[in-house]
Amino acid sequence: MLYSLISGDINQEDYIRYYDIQIIERKLPKNVHGLCFNKHNINFIVVNSCLGEKNKKETLLHEFAHIELHHLEKVFFNTKIKDIEDEADNYIKEILWNIK
Ligand SMILES: [Zn+2]
Repeated sequence: MLYSLISGDINQEDYIRYYDIQIIERKLPKNVHGLCFNKHNINFIVVNSCLGEKNKKETLLHEFAHIELHHLEKVFFNTKIKDIEDEADNYIKEILWNIK
């Protein structure tokens, strides 16, 4: 699905409806671009409101990747946070590479 979004086949509205995503903007610490969590089967994404538009967009894609890769369902005790971060970033990189 993220592929369809990045390649423009669907828009962000369609995407967030499909995955039941609520996007919230909040002032977060400077080094935190965004985070996501699942509550009552809704995927919440919090984006740092201090970010510029380009960074907000990149952050959203990164958090979408977490959702699509089912990271929110994984038991975090068993998975190193860094692995999850890298997996999300690599997922987006791969899509971008395939679209070129
Ligand atoms: Zn992340």
